[in-house]
Amino acid sequence: MTTEPVVDGRSAALERYEAVIGIEIHCQLKTVSKMFCGCSTAIDGAAPNSHCCPVCLGLPGVLPTINKAAVEYVIATGFAIEAAVAPTTRWDRKNYFYPDLPKGYQISQYQLPLAANGRLTFDTSEGPFTVRVRRAHLEEDTGRLIHDELGGRRVSLIDFNRSGMPLMEIVTEPDIRTAEQARRYAEELRLLIRAIGASDAEMENGQMRVEANVSIRPRGREAFGTRIEVKNMNSMRAVERAIAYEIERQAVAIDAGETIHMETRGWDEARQSTYHMRPKEEENDYRYFPEPDLPPLLTSPEWLAEIKARLPELPAARRARYREVFGLSSYDADVLVNDAAATSLFEATLEAGPGLSPKHVANWVTGEYLRLAKAAGNGGLVVAPEMAVLVKLVADGIISGTNAKEVLAEQFATGRSVSSIVAARGFEQISDAGALGAAIDTVLAANPAAVADYRAGRAAAVGFLVGQVMKATRGQANAVMVQTALRERLGKAE
Ligand SMILES: [Zn+2]
Repeated sequence: MTTEPVVDGRSAALERYEAVIGIEIHCQLKTVSKMFCGCSTAIDGAAPNSHCCPVCLGLPGVLPTINKAAVEYVIATGFAIEAAVAPTTRWDRKNYFYPDLPKGYQISQYQLPLAANGRLTFDTSEGPFTVRVRRAHLEEDTGRLIHDELGGRRVSLIDFNRSGMPLMEIVTEPDIRTAEQARRYAEELRLLIRAIGASDAEMENGQMRVEANVSIRPRGREAFGTRIEVKNMNSMRAVERAIAYEIERQAVAIDAGETIHMETRGWDEARQSTYHMRPKEEENDYRYFPEPDLPPLLTSPEWLAEIKARLPELPAARRARYREVFGLSSYDADVLVNDAAATSLFEATLEAGPGLSPKHVANWVTGEYLRLAKAAGNGGLVVAPEMAVLVKLVADGIISGTNAKEVLAEQFATGRSVSSIVAARGFEQISDAGALGAAIDTVLAANPAAVADYRAGRAAAVGFLVGQVMKATRGQANAVMVQTALRERLGKAE
């Protein structure tokens, strides 16, 4: 390659070319045990090869048993993306050789996936967009190769802890046209999977792995171009950047008269570019055949109905409820639904303070609370009953919004109750008419020029006088009451 593609901004090439993108996502399911054996799935931080048994090591003569919870997670995801769930499904052997695959095959689903023909709709900067989902199926994960140095020699070690972990694979149709749509699809699917509880879907630790097939074609042409598989994208931002880069790279190459060859490329986060990993001469022949050690899986209508009934409120429905029932803006609804801790704090605060305005609660949760949680690197330290007390104190004019932010910060840091912090700091606003009246009289007497200005028709002078009263009361006067009382007095004297 001679020319380096430029990724920022829409290039002239993209006006002539259209990108065709399909996404494959693998998610580690949140089951207690592995897919086909009783080994624990708590492998994070565990010593290598400490969570293995003859089944997940692929020793001869062992028999797999199906993890029911894993099957239910995939069916639930299928319902959530409006897919058809098969009444009968089957397990297939996907045969290939690799050192991290002890059996020499992976048990997967080929011809009869658990769910097929679904769809997912999400918002983008160009409006709502729908991606068709071709299939969602269940399979087992492989082990992990660790390349290391031992006694001065380069060695490859194998950790089989991950071998046999349940994986859900979700494949889209090639409907996606921009890098942003790809990222938004992956984000919406992640929210949905988390809502169902099927997976924590953290990309940084491989619980969720996103791969993209990217090709470009001249605008107006039907036939697809040669597709490139892009891997190793470890964040949602990386998904968008890698695909944007790849579209540009291919356009530049085609413009230069080069031929695109099928290959797998990796995303290099440090260089913000993709690199060649391996050629892909043709589709691999995995010699799929029905798994002889497992019977076909029958999904009875009763079982399916039970799984469907257990589905929680899904992100799209929750956003709609926040907008329509609570009157929140699309932006606030989005911010709340995107953060599980914020969602539960919002809902629990409304429950703890039944009379509170949902809009006020949403403002405090999406604003100060998320700011504090982000700065601290965690969420959930503010408990709903305290948040409810705080929002009520502000709504009733007992404390000012500015002081309330300080109270929340202290509550967040120390866990002390809101009322004790307000009392200790003397933050209660002066809302007593007598006390305010005395402060106002003093200020009016000390500022005859401003009073004269106001009476001469300069309404803005009242702002200065309010400021003086706030200063005299060290910020504790109820500003709204001061404003009203000042206007009353100044008007009366006329
Ligand atoms: Zn095992």
